[in-house]
Amino acid sequence: MYPKKIYYEPKALDYELGKKLKEKYSDVEWIPIESHNNIEELRTRSNADFVEMKKYLIIGIRKTHKYVENQKVSDYLVPFSSSGCSAMCLYCYLVCNYNKCSYLRVYVNIDYMLDKLIERSQKTDKICTFEIGSNSDLILENQITGNLIKTIEKFAEKGRGFITFPTKFSMVDNLLSLNHKGKVIFRMSVNPEMIIRKVEIGTSHLIERIEAVNKMCDAGYKVGLLIAPVIFVDDWKSLYIELLDTLYDRLTEKVKKEMFIEVIFMTYSYVQNAINSQAFPNALKIYNKELMTGRSRGKYYYKQEYRDEAEVFLRKEIKARFDGTEIVYVV
Ligand code: SF4
Repeated sequence: MYPKKIYYEPKALDYELGKKLKEKYSDVEWIPIESHNNIEELRTRSNADFVEMKKYLIIGIRKTHKYVENQKVSDYLVPFSSSGCSAMCLYCYLVCNYNKCSYLRVYVNIDYMLDKLIERSQKTDKICTFEIGSNSDLILENQITGNLIKTIEKFAEKGRGFITFPTKFSMVDNLLSLNHKGKVIFRMSVNPEMIIRKVEIGTSHLIERIEAVNKMCDAGYKVGLLIAPVIFVDDWKSLYIELLDTLYDRLTEKVKKEMFIEVIFMTYSYVQNAINSQAFPNALKIYNKELMTGRSRGKYYYKQEYRDEAEVFLRKEIKARFDGTEIVYVV
């Protein structure tokens, strides 16, 4: 059952979304908090409680709204309608930011954030792309708040340029009929099904994700695939070949013609390792001492020689199936 408990800032109930959530989840226990950023009774719990805490929903008001410049598929990273997530990917980078408090927090001041986004999009020197999903998974959040529907409709009407977000979820049906005016770039993250099951805990299956991209593309959205994060598990080359074959077989011709691809290698951190070893003692081990090397702030990366070799391998295999598809970057 999700959410099992709700922690909320009482002022959130002054907002339309706060009121809507209070009604929607009237049979759940609501616990008042001072700030969504610092819930002491959760912050002080043990790492072993990570799975339990992921069942909680936090409702608050976002106070920081600073856009950060970016140079990948977007021009700016936008702090938006949620942070954290109720899924439990073992490598989730949000754990680096929020530690064991990486549960889903939704922010009720969506109208303010949306107005700011639209205003900013109208003022930039050039046409820009705004990444609104770097802190959460908006398809998942949309199931709870409906914020993504509102965002797409309003940005399409008044915004300039594009909004984009990645996802590992397939619940896109309520986006298909929206009048998005081609201003939304939908990026689906994919991995071999074995990795999805054992590492991306609580996310949609590969086949469902592929169907979701097909549907979004059919509905006129711009689409991309994120092959991410690439994880060097045992026999990883065969698994990624199988993934590319499945994509080739199941993606529609329209997607194959229009999509772009991003490839990201997994990074891992000391914090994730500490939480995973206590919260998921029997999970697949994704930290590999032989293949990884430490850099700043307890972060581990695959050693350059392995990344280089893997990049050559993946570019070759992608080209063999999707010749002409742009690979925007491999990092
Ligand atoms: S779906 Fe994304 S945000 Fe959620 S746990 Fe997985 S990596 Fe993190």
